[in-house]
Amino acid sequence: MLNPGPNFRRIACPECQKGTIRLAPDTARFQCSRLRQVIDGFKVGNCDFATRDCAEIPVEPGERVVVVDFTPFAQRIAP
Ligand SMILES: [Zn+2]
Repeated sequence: MLNPGPNFRRIACPECQKGTIRLAPDTARFQCSRLRQVIDGFKVGNCDFATRDCAEIPVEPGERVVVVDFTPFAQRIAP
């Protein structure tokens, strides 16, 4: 798994708390890894969290959202 450093953490989905936030390269949307969708006729996932606005992604105070290699992370920028 991609690991950019100790000041970065994966962002848990605020809606289901089970998935992680990912960036869909085709739609440029931030979305849950368990997003409800249909792939090749199969229904997968059960979460509806998706947004184009990274301000809607919840991170802790002192953190910001950064995208590393198409993967969104919360980066700690304050001590
Ligand atoms: Zn979710």
